[in-house]
Amino acid sequence: MIIAIDGPAGSGKSSVAKIIAQKMRFRHINTGAMYRAVAWKARQLQVDLSDETGVAEVALNQSIQFVPGPEGQTVVADGEDVTSLLRSKTVDRDAAIVASLGKVREILVAKQRDMEKSGSIVMEGRDIGTVVFPRAERKFFLDATPEERGKRRFLELQGKNQEVDLDTIIEQIRRRDEIDRNRKVSPLKAAKDAICMDTTNLDLNEVVNQIMGWIEQAPTQIINRK
Ligand code: C5P
Repeated sequence: MIIAIDGPAGSGKSSVAKIIAQKMRFRHINTGAMYRAVAWKARQLQVDLSDETGVAEVALNQSIQFVPGPEGQTVVADGEDVTSLLRSKTVDRDAAIVASLGKVREILVAKQRDMEKSGSIVMEGRDIGTVVFPRAERKFFLDATPEERGKRRFLELQGKNQEVDLDTIIEQIRRRDEIDRNRKVSPLKAAKDAICMDTTNLDLNEVVNQIMGWIEQAPTQIINRK
């Protein structure tokens, strides 16, 4: 079974996907981390981000794994734990650039589709319900106002003792939204058959409970798709 959770930055999809995966005992795949890992590696190798073929080669050669652990999931790229390295401001910006390259998306989408082979998954991203798994059994699209999403990111970074400015974060979120929504390949948008949720006035538990309700209530169609 595939549960697709899409939405813009700060919509809460990572926190929600993590809990839903735990409750369902499914694997949780954060596809944003895959674009981030490519962006991070490309910079390490000094590959120009406008060099589509060069960045695609980085994506093709990089092995990426999501390893569950006591403190949550770690992202392992080519054998190295890169989890915290992928959360920098530079990677935030670079990942959105890398994600607008068609050849890179082709490679990462193929890797994402391949992950289905090892069992049921909760996959989160921007194009899971539209492009990666249009036939996912459940599709959700989470959104919230840029101000609310900025506030969530602000609190998250403050919790990590980082010096942050709320207005700057909201501005960064708006900029990233614009790139994600307006790019030519796989722009961020809700699938026609996704359940859309505005989470602006909901807390994490409320979102999780609503989604679990939808998962349990929806007709038990295609649990065995093949
Ligand atoms: O979700 P997260 O903010 O970590 O994603 C980083 C970037 O990767 C996003 O800004 C977006 O441009 C890109 N992305 C994407 N498609 C996905 C997941 C992420 O384009 N499925």
